[in-house]
Amino acid sequence: MATYAVMYARGSLSNAHEAQQATRAQVDAAVEAFKLLADGTRLRLLLALAQAPERDVTDLCETVGVSHPLASQHLARLRRGGVVAARRDGRQVFYSLSGGHMRRLVSEALFHADHTVSGTGDHD
Ligand SMILES: [Zn+2]
Repeated sequence: MATYAVMYARGSLSNAHEAQQATRAQVDAAVEAFKLLADGTRLRLLLALAQAPERDVTDLCETVGVSHPLASQHLARLRRGGVVAARRDGRQVFYSLSGGHMRRLVSEALFHADHTVSGTGDHD
């Protein structure tokens, strides 16, 4: 089995994890997560979820500007992939990001994109 060295920048290591050799299963799971993020509508939904503890589908549709069926389809896929969590309260379903790692990943992706779009240099 191939292993991959994971290098963490100084100060960026999450308290809950030690530096480690990534297993093939971990790399495969990370690739699947990136595939879920590699869609404009899904990324907009995730960015909306990164800005609030949780949101229902109607709120997400208005924020992102997509139809209810389309949002529901993407949210179901994100839920199956473990990227978002869902909580039912009566007839409403509230969605949230699955945890702090996904919240930071989505935010950092946008910060990186801001450097790319604005042409300003990246930094540690
Ligand atoms: Zn920056």
